[in-house]
Parts: sequence; structure tokens; C-alpha cells
Amino acid sequence: MSLTFGKSLALWLGLGLSISSQSYADSRLEGQSFDALLKSESSISLEESSAIRQELWQKYKGQVKADTARVKEFEDKGLLFGDKKMKFSESVKGQKPEQGYPFYIALHGGGAAGTWTNDSQWEAMKTYYLSGVNQGIYSATRGVTDTWNLHFVDESYPLYDELIQMMIATREVDPNRVYVLGFSAGGDGVYQIAPRMADRFAAANMSAGHHNWIRFDNLYQTPFLMQVGQNDTAYKRNTVAVENDIALDGLAQERGGYTHEVFVHYKGSHNSWRDNDGSGGAQKILKNPELWLSAANEETITRDTNAIHWLDQYVRNPYPSSIIWDPKTNAKRLRTAGGRYLDPANETVLSRPNQLFYWLDLGSETLPEGSVLIKASYDKAQNRIDLSGLTGINKIRVLLRSEMLDLSQPISVSVDGADLGLVTVQPNIKTMTRTLLERGDPSYQFEAEILIEKAQEWTINRAEEKPVSRYPYSYCSKDSCRIVRSQPAFFFGQLPESTVTHCQSPNLYAMTFDDGPSANYPEVLRILEEEGVPATFFVLGNHLSDENGVNFLQAAKAKGHQISNHSFSHQDLMKLSDADLLKEVESTKARIIEILGDSPEIAQDAATVRPPFGYITQREEALLKANAYQSVRWNSDRSDWELSLDQAGIEMQRFRQHLKFMSAQTLASYNNSIIDLNHDFSPATLNTLQSMIQEVKAAGYRFVTLKDCI
Ligand SMILES: [Zn+2]
Repeated sequence: MSLTFGKSLALWLGLGLSISSQSYADSRLEGQSFDALLKSESSISLEESSAIRQELWQKYKGQVKADTARVKEFEDKGLLFGDKKMKFSESVKGQKPEQGYPFYIALHGGGAAGTWTNDSQWEAMKTYYLSGVNQGIYSATRGVTDTWNLHFVDESYPLYDELIQMMIATREVDPNRVYVLGFSAGGDGVYQIAPRMADRFAAANMSAGHHNWIRFDNLYQTPFLMQVGQNDTAYKRNTVAVENDIALDGLAQERGGYTHEVFVHYKGSHNSWRDNDGSGGAQKILKNPELWLSAANEETITRDTNAIHWLDQYVRNPYPSSIIWDPKTNAKRLRTAGGRYLDPANETVLSRPNQLFYWLDLGSETLPEGSVLIKASYDKAQNRIDLSGLTGINKIRVLLRSEMLDLSQPISVSVDGADLGLVTVQPNIKTMTRTLLERGDPSYQFEAEILIEKAQEWTINRAEEKPVSRYPYSYCSKDSCRIVRSQPAFFFGQLPESTVTHCQSPNLYAMTFDDGPSANYPEVLRILEEEGVPATFFVLGNHLSDENGVNFLQAAKAKGHQISNHSFSHQDLMKLSDADLLKEVESTKARIIEILGDSPEIAQDAATVRPPFGYITQREEALLKANAYQSVRWNSDRSDWELSLDQAGIEMQRFRQHLKFMSAQTLASYNNSIIDLNHDFSPATLNTLQSMIQEVKAAGYRFVTLKDCI
């Protein structure tokens, strides 16, 4: 009924929100330890979520930078774990891209060849791939032993974690562009490291190494390049690389994913070919390595085989919509560096990095005997999560970010195709803090989580299903509707507490129609009667002057509907003097009584006021109350007043979104009642009314008039 409504709302959405959520975040986190934040029961709205996440990340970075022991190891370029030390070089090239520097971890050759050889190989690796780097930070790490597996002993993995975390926290590295590459013994290392900590990397390049029978399942989301000399026959590195390529082809065909390539360098020995030509010069490789393997076909093509150039094509998606996870291949990592900022008693709440994979968390779960292959996917359009392959597992957490699903809506979860029902999640500080400390990676700082457990059957653990407010609220602009867990901050200020927005009891549905009577009223009354639904009409005094208005009021009353007050002329009450405001509601009340007769019930109904546009502050509320008027707003809105007939589908979609959300609120402490705002003049509403009523009934609601609701 008014354009100002839409405009003001847009203004509020565009400006007010970001300012207020920023200051809210500050006030909640300031001076709080991570221990305290891990115990925080604070739920937060989705609107605040990203500001609080950033605030926590700043806090964490501050903590890292103030950790002198940790910083000293890093700045001395020698990270420690157990009795092992991982030395590394650091070269920075180019300007920092907006998202942060790409980071390349390069592994040298050598192995069980003695300290001197490994040291000189490391020295060479400090520049070996560097010319390919345009913008980025390049580190060559020194193997932590002088054994054949010097890049992948147990201690190596937590040291890579630490190197990556420190680079992100102190060097502004882009967590989604971390790469690993290596040559010879370094290639052996890449074969191991990439699948064992795949969720850290955007892509990997393995040159002239041997796979040592690693499983590749975890490379589903991690592009992998293998390069080898055609004549590098030692340990069959040449043919093994092609066999791996065939194995990865098979996985890709069966499951999708597994982006990979193999470059077999024509007539190449172990190291006579180039994977580091910074100019990107064309190198001769076999056109079809599989045909070479099976039929000795030696046809060649030329390619830029620079490893860095290949890696640079890929950026990690931290929230892949589909995950395949072999958790037994994940490298055991016995520490989570973020734990050092906690009381040791709290450290046990952190999952080790090897129990985490993208947005899955196995917590302290012990893996069963035999192989395990977990498959998980989410569907944004359907707001659902599907899991399978959990045989032998009894507990798993799904970690959630707004990038993945609509966290304001119920989420459905299934295991092996069996539906576990809907669950509503709540962004919360505890999850944000814990997930940040676990991997020190802001992309893996999740906002909410779902824990599912198996006793007899898989079930959703609902202990955390704890909405911030008992009363969610939907609000709309012309283009979209949103549901928030608490009353939004209105541009006109806080809604007065005594303004009614919901019913006293759950499962009640009060359908209300504003701005009438309109020409549509006979049809609206007919549908309501057919469905046996009582409703409440907030009428305008200036629509009650003609015969139509009078007929409507009498007909509606006769059918048991409630007739209430929407003022005389639909003005913004905030702009009226006390006297004018009272005149607006008093004249309408008088006219209703004049038409319907004077009874305590009719008078009471006529003293129930919905302020035009819903605009009401403490001043108007107090004035109405002092004069025995009750103000009523709503908690469900579809902006139907601005929808045309051909937008009835939009109205239906908005209606379903809200009903689905509300009817999923099943906790006893939660009030899922709905006061629903409609306009009987809206052609979209007229078109959808009957279907809406039927769906409300199917959802288990009981229709009531407003006086039976409040
Ligand atoms: Zn109105």
C-alpha cells in the first residue's frame, strides 16, 4: 500500500545493518579469551556472522603475532616438532594479490644420500622453480631427516601444517592458493603429502618421484600433475606415473572430480628434462602416455610443462559441494597449533587436523578396521546434506558456512539415503572459535555445525538446536524476503516490547488482511468460508463510508471474523501529533461500532490497532496504550501489496519458505506461531489464498482470530 515501506527497508538493509553488526561483534569478543569463547553459549544472527568471523580471525592473528616462541621459530626459518626441525627458505615475488599471496612449498631431491647431498639439493631447490613464480611466496623446505622418506616422516605433516598456518597468519598468504611441488625424492614427497593433507592444497605437482603405493581417493578435489622422464626406469617411475594416470582416469570416470594430467617427457632420463622453465617454453612430451605404455606409441606434442604455471590454474574451493574422503590416508597429526592458546583442559575439544577434511569432522572417533570411504555432498537449492560410507563410524560433524547452505532455513540430512529429518542450525561463537583454532585457516572457520550420531540408527543430535530468539521474523523488500531469528532492527527504531508480533501459544496461525475492505472481499470471504478459516481484518476508516464497506463489515462479522483497526487514512503515525494520531484510530473504532453495534467484544476488537506500514515506536505505543488500544504487528510478511497477479508464484514461494522454516521449529521452548500479513486487495494473495490455507493446515497449524491468538 505504500512505496515508502519498500524504500525505507532497503535503506535500512543497505546501511544500518553493517554498521550495527560491526560494533556488536566488537563488544562481544573484546577482552575474551579463546577458552571463554569456546564455552560461549552465544548464538548470533546470520547478519552478524561474517563480521564476528573476521573479528575472531583478527584476534587469532594478533595472538599468533604475540606468541614470541612460535614467531621466533618461524622467523629463524626452523620449525620444530618433537625432535625434528624443518628448515625452509622464503622468497617473495611480485605484489600481493587482493586475496593474498599464493604460497608454493617446494621439495628437494636426495633422500638416503647423506646430509651433504640433501643440503646441496635443498640449496638448489631454493631457486629451482622460483622463476615460474610471478606473484607469490616460495619456500623450499629441507627434509627433516636424511632418510629416503625425508619429506614425509610422521613429524613432517604437522610441520607443513605449521608452515602453512604461519604463512597465512603472518605473511598474508591466500589460504586457498597453497601448492606443493617437488622433484625426485621431493616427487616422492608430493605423492604422499597431497593425498594425506589434500584439503590444505589448491593443487600439487609431482615430478620424477615414486608413489610408494599411496591411495589417491582424497585427490577428488585436488588437481594433480605427474611429470616423469620417458626413460626414467629406476623404480619404474616412468611406467608407474602412467599407471597412476590410468588409475586416476578410472576414479574420475566413476566419481567425477580427480582433475589430473601426466607429462611423460620425451626420451627424458630421471632429470634431463624441464618442469621449471620460467619462460614457459614448449617441451616435448608424449602425446598419449597410455598408448606408449600399451603399444610403444611415441608420438609427441609440445607443452609448457612449468609446474608453477600448471598449479596457478587452480584455486582451492574450501567448500566443495561433494567430498570423497578416505580418512585412513590422512596423515596423523598429533597437534593442532591453535591449542597452544587454550587451557590444556580445553585443548581436547579441538579435532586433530587428520580428523578433519574440508567441512567434515570425525572428532575423536576411532576408525574401524578395514578401508573407509566417506562420501558427503550438499545441495544448496534443496538445502540438504547427504552422507554415505559411514560404516563402522558412530559420530560425525558436518561443518557449515553460509557459502554452502541457507543457514536461516531448516536443513535436511540423510545417511545412506535414509532421511534424518530437518534441523535448524545457529551460527555461534563456539563453532567459529573451535574451527579456527583447529586449522588456523580462515576459510575453515565454520559458522555452525550439525552433529549426527549412531546408536541403533543415525540421528541428528539436537542439543545444539537452540535458536537465539523464541520468535523468528520474516521481512521483505520488493525483491526478496528473509527470515531472521530475532526481530530485525527497524529503521524507525526498536519495536516496542508490548507490540504483539506472535501468538501466545505455538501452532496457532492468525491470518490477517490489511487496508480493506477492498473489492476482493466477497471472494476472500468465500474462500475463508470454504476452508472454515477465521481471520482478522484490519480495516481503514475511510473505506467504511460506502455501502460496500458496510456490507463487508456485516458479512465478515456474520462469518465469525474479527474486525480490527488500521487507522482512518493510512498515515504514518510517527508523523502525527498525539491528537491527530488518536483521531485516526478513534474515528475508525467509532465507525466500526456504528456499523456492527456496540458490544464489549466489538469494541475490544476495534481497539486492536495495526499501525499503517507497521511503523510504531515507543511514543505511539505509549499513547495508544494510555487510551486502551493494543498495537499488533506481524511476524510473517511476503510484501504481497506490491505483487501483481503474474507474481503469484513469488508469493507462494515466499509463503512456503516461511512456513517450512516455522513449522520445523520443534523445540518446546520455541514458539512457531504465525501472525501473517496479507492485503485483500492484492491479486497475488487472492490467487494463492486457498492453496496457502491448505498448506498451513497440512503443516499442523490451527487457524485463529487475533484475539484467540494473543
Ligand atoms: Zn496498510
